[in-house]
Amino acid sequence: MNRVAQSVSPFLQQLPKVELHLHLEGAIPPETLLGVFRRHGNTEMACLEDVLRLYQHRDFYDFLAHFRTILEWLRDADDLEPITYDVLSNLARQNVRYAEVIFSPGTLLHFHGLDPDRVLDAIQRGYARARSEHAIEMALLLDLTRNMGLEYGWRMARFAAGAQDRGVIGITLGGNERDFPAAPYAEIYQWARDQGLRVTAHAGEAAGPESVWDCIRLLGVERIGHGVRMEDDPRLAEYVVEHGIAIECCPWSNVLTGAVESLEAHPVRRWFERGVRLSINSDDPTLFGTDITRELARLQAAHGFSDGEILHIMAQAVQMSFLPEGGKARLRRLLAEFAVQNGFQTL
Ligand SMILES: [Zn+2]
Repeated sequence: MNRVAQSVSPFLQQLPKVELHLHLEGAIPPETLLGVFRRHGNTEMACLEDVLRLYQHRDFYDFLAHFRTILEWLRDADDLEPITYDVLSNLARQNVRYAEVIFSPGTLLHFHGLDPDRVLDAIQRGYARARSEHAIEMALLLDLTRNMGLEYGWRMARFAAGAQDRGVIGITLGGNERDFPAAPYAEIYQWARDQGLRVTAHAGEAAGPESVWDCIRLLGVERIGHGVRMEDDPRLAEYVVEHGIAIECCPWSNVLTGAVESLEAHPVRRWFERGVRLSINSDDPTLFGTDITRELARLQAAHGFSDGEILHIMAQAVQMSFLPEGGKARLRRLLAEFAVQNGFQTL
């Protein structure tokens, strides 16, 4: 699971971007993590070289072990302030203007009993600081983490519903998809939708098309995270096109977790040509040795997406975001200006 060097064109570097599928805990820069380790007296991780080893994985199990180590050291709600600030600053340097960031309060609650309320406060402080310095906005999606059970799911859904005035806009269902199906979450999702929360779910990554069907039919999701196994049932792609259900593609993540055999084997190009609404995302960027700019570069290299097609995908991502109409219009204008500056007539 080596990092793949990928040259990035000025067009991709300067392109205004949106990220719709990015986990806060998987996007922590190594320097930030070193700060966390020092604060908590982790003497085994005393310098950056030590920390960087956590970002190099021999295989997927190694990756999971590293992720677990990182989560074990997030011991104080206040850690989330510099983390959020640094993650957003990183995104802003790539000209990401808007990010829907997934956060899993359950892991910190589980490891250290951290109060989700205090954690959310710290995230909001980090966000306020980042927004005052960079042209970036963020909204939060809370992960119900399916392997933590329904009672926990209800707790998080209620917490999300009560935090809509603090930047939380919706929920997603992450965690172990293979062993914990989505169906039991139908009631929670119905309730969440009634509370005005936006709803997505991770599906078709570790489990087959039936998992995607369940999320669509029983959970009523507006977007699917990953969805690669949709390919095993041709009626699914047809259905998502017909009903405008959007797919958050995370191609490099899918390669590293083994959800697809290679980047070339990823269905993203076929979906694009069939008219599936999709966005390109980095998922766990620092842990996977990627970022949204490199994701786009890899797609151009492996699937021949032109700059014009990348512009189209980015405009589509704006459209499938959960921003209010005014926010979408602002981003569309930004993209349209960028398109014209780069010799395109329209988006
Ligand atoms: Zn994810």
